[in-house]
Amino acid sequence: MYDVIVVGGGNAALCAALSAAEATSKILVLERAPEEESGGNSRFTAGLMRVAYEDVEDLKKVIELSQDEIARTDFGTYTEEQFLDDMARVTEYRCDPDLTEILVKESLAAVTWMRSKGVRFTAAWGRQAFNIGGRFKFWGGLTVEAVGGGPGLVDSLTRIAKNNGIELWYGARALSLLVDDEGVQGVTVKKDGKTVQLKSRAVVLAAGGFQANTEWRTRYLGPGWELAKVRGTRFNTGDGIRMALEAGAAAHGNWSGCHAVAWERNAPEFGDLAVGDQFQKHSYPWGIYLNAEGRRFVDEGADFRNYTYAKYGRVILSQPGQFAWQIFDAKVKQQLRDEYRIKQVTKRVGSTLEDLVRQLEDTDQKNALEEIQAYNAAVRTEVAFNPNVKDGRRTQNLKIDKTNWANTLDTPPFEAYAVTCGITFTFGGLKITREAQVIDADGEPIRGLYAAGELVGGIFWFNYPGGSGLTNGSVFGRIAGRSAAGAAAGGAATSATG
Ligand SMILES: Cc1cc2nc3c(=O)[nH]c(=O)nc-3n(C[C@H](O)[C@H](O)[C@H](O)COP(=O)(O)OP(=O)(O)OC[C@H]3O[C@@H](n4cnc5c(N)ncnc54)[C@H](O)[C@@H]3O)c2cc1C
Repeated sequence: MYDVIVVGGGNAALCAALSAAEATSKILVLERAPEEESGGNSRFTAGLMRVAYEDVEDLKKVIELSQDEIARTDFGTYTEEQFLDDMARVTEYRCDPDLTEILVKESLAAVTWMRSKGVRFTAAWGRQAFNIGGRFKFWGGLTVEAVGGGPGLVDSLTRIAKNNGIELWYGARALSLLVDDEGVQGVTVKKDGKTVQLKSRAVVLAAGGFQANTEWRTRYLGPGWELAKVRGTRFNTGDGIRMALEAGAAAHGNWSGCHAVAWERNAPEFGDLAVGDQFQKHSYPWGIYLNAEGRRFVDEGADFRNYTYAKYGRVILSQPGQFAWQIFDAKVKQQLRDEYRIKQVTKRVGSTLEDLVRQLEDTDQKNALEEIQAYNAAVRTEVAFNPNVKDGRRTQNLKIDKTNWANTLDTPPFEAYAVTCGITFTFGGLKITREAQVIDADGEPIRGLYAAGELVGGIFWFNYPGGSGLTNGSVFGRIAGRSAAGAAAGGAATSATG
């Protein structure tokens, strides 16, 4: 008999296990993936985490910063109010107010807690800060990054879990919950071809969304979604959600919504750990998009990348042929993110715009050239370009204007990158209480069942502020583990805060 069984091996699951270990001892983590592919989507990340902080003193609770680094960096602030505003705005005011409040208010505490367990963090100098005149300035509310990115995060959480006496089974796929009138009593699991029933006092589900399940994707996200590429793990096929629904849980949240981004057109069907998140192509605010008809179709400069990238994958999927080109000129070359410099890119380079569009296969090249020229003519060049703020350097009177960072494409060489839609994770899932207990279809908490991470619905809708996924898993994983341990000890669920 285990006290707590955790289903999943990513960030949410490992945080839940570590949290449970503070109050109880017999804990088992079931990871469906083999050890070398373990860690779910969490392993695929850059390890960026959205954390509310007032000042550098807050950051120092999490990151070791030298005096020199502090002197040459403007970390700014990212207050709880800003985080709450970002969540509300990008989810079109649908995010669950209780869960969002916990996500925001517990973000710094959760990461500080992980630090206290031995996970190391750094400042995201490479991706979230611009160097202006020798001084780094952070932007977009995303300052904290796990050392070693996603692999570093998962490896250190795993090591710490093992050091805390937590048992980990790899290649162990949870199939269903053992449930009776008293609540959840354990898990049926298949490992090494054998199906066994494992008893436990409480179960935490942290098995990810259903983005790697082609059939569910098409069923819930809609026609065409079978054509998207999966950015991360192939193991998140909705098992945790299905198991809970079968046990009477309520379905909750944005079941037709997901996080999806611009992703290398010729990337494999699922994520490749050797490439990680580098198939993504996130520098579109510095250029323009063209579709197969040679037309722009979205405001590339509507907001900072962090607040648009997660919804533009869907827009790309709905273009003819499910792909698009990102076009840049030499002026912004230095500003392109590191992912543009990997080998596995579909890239075209032209010495003139005519030369470039001639190389855009599957695309109306005549329209493409006209579209770029019309765009160039519409840029308000009298407004200064400034990547640190929404600079208002825009186009005027185009069918779809670019409203910030509109540079003319006039300096060779010109570059084009082919992208399609890469799905990150699905937004629909289970309903939980403030203590991360799963709620049934009648609105009652299911005894002994807790959930955290991607498979919880109600928090993200339509869109997502970058770096919230890991924070979500850490905050609610921590709470779910604590609650499950409390239930295992026979106590009432403990408070969500602390
Ligand atoms: C390429 C990429 C880059 C990203 N970058 C970032 C970033 O920088 N910052 C950020 O915040 N978010 C990022 N995200 C999103 C982030 O990965 C997720 O939001 C977060 O990792 C989800 O954590 P989780 O623990 O809920 O799920 P996961 O980490 O996916 O873990 C789910 C686990 O459940 C296991 N599992 C599934 N089914 C079963 C079963 N039946 N039995 C047992 N185990 C099962 C899986 O194998 C996996 O280990 C990125 C995602 C991708 C794909």
